[in-house]
Order: sequence, then structure tokens, then C-alpha cells
Amino acid sequence: MIDPKMLLEKIFANERFSHAYLFSGNITECAALAGLAARMLLCEGEEIANKPCGICYSCNVISNDNHPDLTVIRPDKKTTISMELIRDELTNITHILPYRGQRKVFIVENADFIISKNQNVLLKTLEEPPPHVIILLCAENEDLLLPTVRSRLSIIKIPQAQAAMYDGASELYKTLPALLGNLHRLNHGEILLEAGKYEDYKDEAGLFLDACLVWYRDVAAYNAGHALAHEAWLAMVKDAPQFNPRAAEYIEEARASLRYNAGFRLVLDVLLLKLKGI
Ligand SMILES: [Zn+2]
Repeated sequence: MIDPKMLLEKIFANERFSHAYLFSGNITECAALAGLAARMLLCEGEEIANKPCGICYSCNVISNDNHPDLTVIRPDKKTTISMELIRDELTNITHILPYRGQRKVFIVENADFIISKNQNVLLKTLEEPPPHVIILLCAENEDLLLPTVRSRLSIIKIPQAQAAMYDGASELYKTLPALLGNLHRLNHGEILLEAGKYEDYKDEAGLFLDACLVWYRDVAAYNAGHALAHEAWLAMVKDAPQFNPRAAEYIEEARASLRYNAGFRLVLDVLLLKLKGI
């Protein structure tokens, strides 16, 4: 599994990054990575290694989904992104200067849902982005993007790591969906009690968080009419609340906390309580 924060630090280390990226691979992971990239790009903290710092103005307003220099575009129809949405939320507003700092960041989740004809609208902006604009596209199927569009993007491929993990984590993959799919029905005390059952994953925290991501990825896939990565979950996925992209962000935040040596149990408690709240 790649370490997304390290990858992004490498990209953004010398400020000579490109103006348009494509995160290609599992859409939940791509969206989480693009969200993390946006938080790093907009963070007003001093040190790159500490971004996102979690305490500056930008970090605070982003966690409230309220940053004036971040636009996140998600499909407005079930499996398409309309030309109007691309125009209104992206290409027609790139000339507006950042409200704070140097940059405006645009994330397009499921960029492969933009039909070819409409990708040409985006192409013009990708060819000559204003200097303050950074565009982060996410796509599960990058082949659906026009070669002319792809050629304008720095492509970051997210490896498919989950498939090989299913065997080693079979117990986890049996029990975790029942917990994540029912979080909204549990009270805080019950959640903390459930968290205790997963303490043994302390030394395999990455595996645990990946399994959480796969669950939310499958909920997103189901909502969008796509096949599940883990078909055995179908009944539970059907019964789960609608996918909320914040889930993936919270999981990546938990991963970051563990890297800074936070205790697994505490991270787990906080993560599950946050996931209940979305
Ligand atoms: Zn910050």
C-alpha cells in the first residue's frame, strides 16, 4: 500500500508541481487522496511535512466543508457530470482570484463520468490554467478520458492493493461491515464497546483502515450503480446509509494520526465516532 501522505509530500516538496493531476484507481482512495492534497495545498502552516497542520484557518474551514478556495465537483446525475456543472463550478470561475493565499483548488471526483464531448470544455482550462489554479481529477477508469485531456495531466496511479488482502483479513471482512453499516444506529457507548473488539488490529492498523475504505468504496459503488469489490457485502451495502466522501477523509486522517504515533485504540474510537456523525 502506498503511503499517500509521503507521495503527496514528494510531489509538493519543491513547489514546482503541475497545475493538473489525475488520481487514477479506486475512486474512494483517489477522492481521499485528492482531498488530502487539497488540504496540503491550502494549509497555511509553515512546514510541508506538517501539512495539513489541522490548526490553521484553511485546515479548520476545510474540515467544515467551507473553504472559499476549494471546490469539489461530484456527479450531479447518477453516473454523469453535466456540462453545466463543469462550466458553473470550474471553467467559468477559474479567473476568480483566491480568497486567501495563492491558490484555488478544484477537485473533480469521477472525472471519467464526464462524457467525451464535455471533456473538451475542460480541456481548454487544462491547456491554459490561470497560475493560481490547481485541478485534481479522480477517475476509476482513466481510459474514459480523452487522450488530449490525459496528456495535460500528471497521472498518479493508485495501486490496487485490496484484492490480495482479502485472504489474510477474512475475519475482518466478515465482521467489519456489520459495524460500519450500523454505526448510525449505535449510541456512543455501544460504539466504544464495539471498537474494543478491534483492538487486536493494533499491529495491522493499515489493514484495518484499508478494510474500512473498501467498505465505503463499495457503498459508493452501489450508490452509483457499479459492481462491488466485495460481492459478499451486497445485502449489507444495500441496507447502509448513502456514501459520504467524508468517510474516506476520516479514514486517511486516522492513518495520518497513527503515523504521528497516536495510540491505535484512541484513533479507532475517534474514527468510529466521526464516521457515525457523517
Ligand atoms: Zn493548516
